[in-house]
Amino acid sequence: MSTIGRIHHITAIASAPDRNLAFYEGALGLRMIKQTVNFDDPGVHHLYYGDGTGSPGTILTFFPYPGARPGRHGTGQAEEIAFAIPAGSLEFWRQRLTGLGLAVEGPAERFGERLIAFKDHDGLMLELVEDETAVGLPGRAAEDIPAAHAIRGFRGITLWVEDPAGTARVLTEVLGYTPGPAEGARLRFVHPGEGIGRIVDLRAAKGFWAGAMGAGVVHHVAFRAADDTAQAAATAALTPRGIRVTPQQDRTYFRSTYFREPGGVLFEIATDEPGFAIDEPVEALGSRLMLPARYEPHRAAIEANLPPLRPARDAA
Ligand code: ZN
Repeated sequence: MSTIGRIHHITAIASAPDRNLAFYEGALGLRMIKQTVNFDDPGVHHLYYGDGTGSPGTILTFFPYPGARPGRHGTGQAEEIAFAIPAGSLEFWRQRLTGLGLAVEGPAERFGERLIAFKDHDGLMLELVEDETAVGLPGRAAEDIPAAHAIRGFRGITLWVEDPAGTARVLTEVLGYTPGPAEGARLRFVHPGEGIGRIVDLRAAKGFWAGAMGAGVVHHVAFRAADDTAQAAATAALTPRGIRVTPQQDRTYFRSTYFREPGGVLFEIATDEPGFAIDEPVEALGSRLMLPARYEPHRAAIEANLPPLRPARDAA
């Protein structure tokens, strides 16, 4: 069942959109590959960051609400977001992030891989992991970041759950994951598919407080479906388990279904098709505000209402 599973994208809540853009584009060197609005709330941006083309497995997205209150990290949430970097790149990133004034933890070791941990300005927990498969993936150079050290996409995600059993069943029996090693309270699940975004770690946190949504907290994790047929097969496997799956929703760049897994984390199944180049050429990805057809007649009002993403240029 390898047509389903592996991370497609991860979506989190942020506060100020201009700081969000400055951090993910400027500090981490990701490309903003889509600038749009929350399709359910067009007063708020939806910003997508990824590799040069928005490949599944590289896409981190945000709903930035200016002035949003911080969320609370806890159970029932996806927490540490791990990016893959090539082996030998950790020191480059430790120095770079420290130089930018971030508190960097590590290097530490987990399942034999070296990593550093840090947070964005909203408190979102991020990790950079040296991944021996990352070097084979194309790296995109950004200002001050050589391609050799560039982030390749997601290494994986850690979910904090009270009791990992139900989540583990969904991962292995529906999403195609294989149980891997355990280290302390952390259980690793690995997808046999190729490429990026193959790891889900479950951190058993019995008795820990429940998480609450807000800035700096992951909203949902989306897993890949090759196409509508694979997505429908996942729904058919989830429904008999008493898990309610939403009808498919058209997100322009992919088609989505959503469900809450037994550990409380919101999961999405997103199709690989049609991808981010459907409404603007690859070279122009992220350069202007894209709107779904139903909001296009209201573009002027929507644009006037959105907070600025970049500092205004001097008139001179
Ligand atoms: Zn999503």
